[in-house]
Formats: sequence, C-alpha cells, structure tokens
Amino acid sequence: MTDEIYALLEGGRKLPLVEDFYTVQGEGFHTGKPAYFIRLGGCDVGCRWCDAKYTWNPRQFPPVEVDEIVERAVSFPAQAIVITGGEPTLYPLDYLTGELKRRGLEIFLETSGTQPLTGTFDWVCLSPKKQQGPLPENLLRADELKVIVEESGDFGWAERNAAQVRRSCLLFLQPEWSRYERMIPEIVEYAKAHPRWNISVQTHKFMHIP
Ligand code: SF4
Repeated sequence: MTDEIYALLEGGRKLPLVEDFYTVQGEGFHTGKPAYFIRLGGCDVGCRWCDAKYTWNPRQFPPVEVDEIVERAVSFPAQAIVITGGEPTLYPLDYLTGELKRRGLEIFLETSGTQPLTGTFDWVCLSPKKQQGPLPENLLRADELKVIVEESGDFGWAERNAAQVRRSCLLFLQPEWSRYERMIPEIVEYAKAHPRWNISVQTHKFMHIP
C-alpha cells in the first residue's frame, strides 16, 4: 500500500471498501454459517487463479467511513462478520474490529498472512500463497490453515505451512475452483492418507451465492 493511500485512512476510521453484503460463508471451517462480508480492496500477492482480481488495485476503492460500514452490518441479523479482500491486513483494522466487537459480533479474518496483523479476531483463517508466503508470526495466529491445491506439488507446500502452525490449528485442503474436477480425487486420497487434513470446497459456487 502506498503512503498516499494510507494517509487517507485516518488511522483506520476509513477503509477502501470494495463491497459488503450478507451471505453464507461458503468455505473453510465456518462453511454454511450466515455472515456479513466486508471486502477491502488491494492485494499484491498476484495469484494466477484469484477469483477476486477486481479487488487488486486499491485506488479503485476510495476510503469509506468505517462507522457507515458497521451501521450497515448491524442492520442485518448476521452474528458473524467475515473481513476479507483483497488482502485486508494491508490496513489498520483496530477501529473496525473494535466497533464490530462492541456490537457483540464475532469477527472472522480471511488473510494470506503476508502482512503484520492488526485488530481483534475470533477466528483467523490463513490461506498461504506460494508467490508470497505468510509471516511466521501469522502462522502462529491461525485458527485454520486453508491451502489451495491446484497441482500435486501443492501438498508439499501445505505440509511446510502446517509444520509451522499451532497444534490446535485446523488444516484444510481446498481445490482451486478451475481444477476442481481434476484435483478432487487426489485431494480425497491425500486426506484419507493424512487424516490431520480436512477438505474444504467452495460451496458458495455450487449454491450460486457470492
Ligand atoms: S492473496 Fe487472495 S486476493 Fe490476493 S491474489 Fe491471492 S487469492 Fe487473490
């Protein structure tokens, strides 16, 4: 993130919002749970298969008052908030998470773990990316490690990350969506042979919801 954008954020009272909406979490440990999603713009990790490429350039998303976002979130019956991106940890998240917490909401973070974490979270889902790996201290904060598998070599990447998380951290292998048919048989066999791992699929894509 450039200093120029950071300066506009007023210490986190404003954030570059891409979209916010009430839906159902489609993947990972909280699959099936209704949640309000807050998606922030900006990511420089550059995953080839990213399904949120439209979020990458933060300049396209002028900072929005966090108070407005929070008011909208609490106007829905959601009990959980998913903060996602892009890479939301590019920004100071203390104010946003503090306000959401004050309203009694559970806060789940989706991150690649490449930036130092700010804010308070009830659940950290860390999805490590090969192009730019996670910070070791973030792996120790993960409640859930969700590794995207697009080829057989990704199991080794998954294990290298799993070796650095806490024992209590849940482990998920998730097929990259465009390789689903090709990779799911291998992922199923891998999980059966290495039962520390669970399988996550992007159920929201089957349900045709965001
Ligand atoms: S880290 Fe996430 S948002 Fe960033 S490019 Fe990769 S998949 Fe997309």
